Amino acid sequence: MRRWRLRRRQGGLRVSPLTPAQVQALRHRDAQLTLWATRFFIAGATMAALVVGGVAVGYDLDKYLTLAVLGIGNAAVYLIALTTTFRGYAKQAGLLVLMMSVLTILAICSVISTGTSTESVLFGLAVMPFVLLRSDDMVARLSLSGFTLAIYLTCELAWPAGHGSNELPTELASALAMFNRFVAAFLTMAAIVVLQAKLRLNRQILEGAARYGELRATTDELTGVYNRRPVIAQLQEYAERGRGNYAIALIDLDEFKSINDHHGHDCGDAMIKLVADALTSHFRSSDMVSRWGGDEFLVLMPGIRHADLEPVLDRLRAHIASLSLECGKGQDHAITVSIGAAMGVTGRSPDECIAAADHALYRAKEGGRNRVVTVGTSSPTGALGRG
Ligand code: GH3
Ligand code: MG
Repeated sequence: MRRWRLRRRQGGLRVSPLTPAQVQALRHRDAQLTLWATRFFIAGATMAALVVGGVAVGYDLDKYLTLAVLGIGNAAVYLIALTTTFRGYAKQAGLLVLMMSVLTILAICSVISTGTSTESVLFGLAVMPFVLLRSDDMVARLSLSGFTLAIYLTCELAWPAGHGSNELPTELASALAMFNRFVAAFLTMAAIVVLQAKLRLNRQILEGAARYGELRATTDELTGVYNRRPVIAQLQEYAERGRGNYAIALIDLDEFKSINDHHGHDCGDAMIKLVADALTSHFRSSDMVSRWGGDEFLVLMPGIRHADLEPVLDRLRAHIASLSLECGKGQDHAITVSIGAAMGVTGRSPDECIAAADHALYRAKEGGRNRVVTVGTSSPTGALGRG
């Protein structure tokens, strides 16, 4: 995680990169969201069926026996469906309830009186397949919603003023109409909210996974700084644009082999990370810190003035020399770096600039290490192609 934080500081990414484990966790969250939305929907349908059955029983059981049986029977089936969601059949249960609700509403529309607005609930139900089904089940999503909407239109067109064969008293009819409209609006809103959350989660998963791939391709795994690839791409872009106001510094750990030899490879790795962290915090966010190879870093500093180059690098050198690392047995180990740097000059290639920095680094090592040597550009030696 730390690595990604470092990298974000350099690149200013919008969506956080997601490791495969994080992607899996988000997929699980998406599945849980669907599951709870399904349960919520079934519980709501159960309540609605109970209200219908209850109203029929309470009002006039003899007259509304069919309605009472329909409501209470439906509620029983919905409850069974709800329990099956806890056994891993959430999708099937959701679809069963959806289908039963559609058919029940159709039945109620065709037998109950004018003005109950029962068919409006179908509107909310038409959105449900988009929540209950996965996005790759697009055909099923569309056909189920289409089917529900078709029934809604049939009800509206076939019985514009309700069927009227079994008239309810006016006040009950208008109370039911109010309740049905409320249910329709609530169902639609709930489905849209859940759908929105699912879309956001899925976008996060897709973009996060893509960012992760992008980072893997441009980041050094040990230190979290850039690898060579983005630096070479940036230098090539400068070369194409004929831009020359940048500097390149090559920073190499001194006598690093002896750290590996005497304190082990893990200690060596920790030392490399320590230096990488020091580099990341020392340079501006517009500078590119990269691990160029084993114990060598390259820093690309766009827009730096020649007069500032040496002081900036010398401060870095002194800072690194003041650091120490504990590798086992409570022993502290210090490290120094040698730095060679060169200014880019318009009309000279980045290759030449790297070669000049390389030459300066060589001189810093020759001069006794733990020092900075800066130079102008020198003759090309094809440094971009180095292994
Ligand atoms: P000098 O002062 O001349 O640079 O001496 P040096 O010992 O640092 O020599 P050099 O830079 O040539 O050696 C780099 C060593 O870094 C060689 C290699 O074993 C070691 N190395 C390269 N990559 C890694 C790594 O990822 N982890 C560790 N622990 N060591 C590495
Ligand atoms: Mg070295």
